[in-house]
Amino acid sequence: MLAQNEPGFRDSVDMMFNRAVRLMDLSPGLEQKIRVCNSTYTVRFGVRLRGKIETFTGYRSVHSEHMEPVKGGIRYALSVNQDEVEALAALMTYKCALVETPFGGSKGGLCIDPRAWDEHELEQITRRFAYELIKRDLINPAQNVPAPDMGTGEREMAWIADQYARMNTTDINAKACVTGKPPHAGGIQGRVEATGRGVQFALREFFRHPQDVAKAGLAGTLDGKRLVVQGLGNVGYHAAKFLSEDDGAKVVAIIERDGALVHDAGLPVEEVRRWIAAHGGVKGFPVGTYVEGGAAVLEMACDILIPAAMEGVIHKGNAARIKAPLIIEAANGPITFGADEILRQKGVVIIPDLYANAGGVTVSYFEWVKNLSHIRFGRMQRRAEEARSRLMVEELERLSADKGLGWTLAPDFKEKFLTGSDELALVRSGLDDTMRIAYQSMREVWHDRAEVEDLRVAAYMVAIDRVAKTYRSKGL
Ligand code: GLU
Repeated sequence: MLAQNEPGFRDSVDMMFNRAVRLMDLSPGLEQKIRVCNSTYTVRFGVRLRGKIETFTGYRSVHSEHMEPVKGGIRYALSVNQDEVEALAALMTYKCALVETPFGGSKGGLCIDPRAWDEHELEQITRRFAYELIKRDLINPAQNVPAPDMGTGEREMAWIADQYARMNTTDINAKACVTGKPPHAGGIQGRVEATGRGVQFALREFFRHPQDVAKAGLAGTLDGKRLVVQGLGNVGYHAAKFLSEDDGAKVVAIIERDGALVHDAGLPVEEVRRWIAAHGGVKGFPVGTYVEGGAAVLEMACDILIPAAMEGVIHKGNAARIKAPLIIEAANGPITFGADEILRQKGVVIIPDLYANAGGVTVSYFEWVKNLSHIRFGRMQRRAEEARSRLMVEELERLSADKGLGWTLAPDFKEKFLTGSDELALVRSGLDDTMRIAYQSMREVWHDRAEVEDLRVAAYMVAIDRVAKTYRSKGL
């Protein structure tokens, strides 16, 4: 819960924006143009369910159209409201600019408890919401491309894509109207894991810079680092899974809706996830200690805190008690503006949301490109790579035969070498590149200018500068 004297989410984002523009040289007019949210559409629609008409309220907010289409997820939660959707849309603008996906920022939301309705009912509600947005070009491959967010996933995106296709039978690019679709319905491999995978790549990149690691009072690599993860939804689950399975990090606590699990030797992420799916919470899990409520576990001593649930969970009321020296914002806006100040004064290093969770929209971009090109992602590159690899293998074998060297390639290596560029591998390496390059662009600003105190302000500066450049080149 937010402390009483804290600004709302939207104001919090604007205040972070203001910290950055103070260090930049923008005209006040342009600054204001970038800051404001261009428009927010509110819709109330009725669906006949269980014998009566239920009315739902939904939003689609467009923050900046400096590039089109605008991009951003659709959230299903009872807590959805205009302020939240606008804050999230603004974050999308800066996020897309930071990782150089050619989109403006948008976000949508529907006030609904998705667990209160069955699948067929959710389909009816989703299709009706989509219909309202499609009619107004708020879902459109060239103008506004939604994606999953909290409470939505592949299933909802497939319904939205189908709804659009029904309403636009001659649009050859219909599939590109939404990303995060299942692979069999025009999606791309690796989109579901993308945000969590991006968190892993972001941390790996951070730990490649000992100077940055030292700023957090840490040393060494991710191996053996103690993680506290808040939220084992799509993002938190994948981040925790990959970091523990691939990098040797230890998930010492998982905080969920009902409470938290703490286990110093490290929790088995996969099993906890299965337990939550079966029991609706972490209570009763046979490994570790269960802590009622779980809020205090955020304040537990650890190396890396990963808030991967909601906005505003670290606020003025608990920031001073946070003991993690490094926080990576897997969620959007988990740290309020006030808490950010307190943490900075304590020397906590924060890897900010607009960078940390950009893996989702990055892979969405790959999916959108795949849909528009009407060809499997990377298929052209793959053909070229395969031809090159084959030439190399043939050349090696010929050389070996000529000189009587007796070289042979192990058959499984040869097989991998010739066919190793599948879609998932290409998506992952494209995401890795994106996360490395974006980190380096904010790091440069962070290290080069003494007045740039932290990664968040650096990230905003890089992003705002890019948005400003686009506006200027448009003649604004
Ligand atoms: N909802 C995700 C986010 O907050 C993904 C957005 C997208 O892929 O367009 O970044």
